[in-house]
Amino acid sequence: MPKVLIIGAGLSGLTSAYALKDSEYDVEILEARPRLGGRIYTKEVNSCQLELGATWFGPQHTSLMALVNQLEIPFKTQENGREAIYDFRPKGHLERFQIPNQESSTFKFKAGSSTLINALFHKQTSKVHFNENVKSISYFDSFVVQTEKNQFKADYLILTIPLQLIADTIEFEPGLPQSFQDLISNTHTWMSDSIKFSVAFDSDFWKNDRYIGTLMSPQQIVQEMYDHSDKDREQNALVGFLNAGYSVLTEENRRDRLFNQLSDTFNQKTFDIKAYADVNWRNEAFTIHKQAQALVPHQNNGNPKLREGFFGDRLYFSASETAAQTPGYMDGAVHRGMEVAKLLVKKLG
Ligand SMILES: Cc1cc2nc3c(=O)[nH]c(=O)nc-3n(C[C@H](O)[C@H](O)[C@H](O)COP(=O)(O)OP(=O)(O)OC[C@H]3O[C@@H](n4cnc5c(N)ncnc54)[C@H](O)[C@@H]3O)c2cc1C
Repeated sequence: MPKVLIIGAGLSGLTSAYALKDSEYDVEILEARPRLGGRIYTKEVNSCQLELGATWFGPQHTSLMALVNQLEIPFKTQENGREAIYDFRPKGHLERFQIPNQESSTFKFKAGSSTLINALFHKQTSKVHFNENVKSISYFDSFVVQTEKNQFKADYLILTIPLQLIADTIEFEPGLPQSFQDLISNTHTWMSDSIKFSVAFDSDFWKNDRYIGTLMSPQQIVQEMYDHSDKDREQNALVGFLNAGYSVLTEENRRDRLFNQLSDTFNQKTFDIKAYADVNWRNEAFTIHKQAQALVPHQNNGNPKLREGFFGDRLYFSASETAAQTPGYMDGAVHRGMEVAKLLVKKLG
């Protein structure tokens, strides 16, 4: 059986593994982290599900929706209430705004985005090797993939590592064309510059009949915030993004400043916190290199050259940012993960 190695057990890699499960290929996955999911990360703390990576999707995300329906993963509509708080301080005021009716719904997974990852993992049949950080890839008449600890051989490779990270950290022998190296060095990894937080409380003190947690505050630590409660699981939670300028602080310092802002906004002196976590994705070595050059959001995402095959169409790049549809998003990861699997299946006729 020809051997396929998928590098990366994020959404794209697991989608390809799922799509190849009944094929004539022997498929294995190498994953640098000790966990599945990559930029999808629902962390369980004190029985609360804290959403720290990708969260929202919509009916326009057709590849993702098809997979979610096929796997029967429960999802629900994101409720934003009828009013939002806009905090323009210190230069302006705290103001309430009416939220216009949305033309289409925004969805999120009922028990966290990792439910999609776990479902894919259980439905596919490939072995996942965790803590295998790929350092170099060489090709003669087959591939040799060198990780920090081991060597793996394969006939075909699917590389789902974010493209800018590949340019910064992986060596190829023979080298990739310079024009392609330049392109991937300049391909933005969506949301790699963000700090996402999630916090669960005993009570939903922020809610009233018109307002349920939507906050925008460009000058404060919390830039955007949304309700993330779930009645069925008795979870009262908020989720959002912190100002990237606060990335130099520790998680504890960011947490203190966030609660100062919430206390001030909601006139709340004490909090009954059940769980808090944030992830500064800039510090995630398997998403972006520390010294990566700053790029414009979505720069080069979806460029058709990213979908070219290499080494006689035996190696494909497959991170979400390569996708022809909604590159950078969960939908792009599913779209491209399926596409690459189909290309390989076609090879065997
Ligand atoms: C904070 C945040 C919020 C987001 N919000 C949304 C949202 O609301 N909606 C949406 O649609 N999308 C959102 N996204 C984007 C979404 O998460 C991605 O599009 C999608 O998860 C990408 O999947 P992927 O498999 O292409 O890449 P990744 O998830 O990055 O997977 C790549 C995998 O490769 C592994 N890897 C990296 N280097 C190596 C190595 N050297 N060796 C072996 N393995 C390696 C990684 O550990 C990872 O598991 C968000 C992303 C973040 C970070």
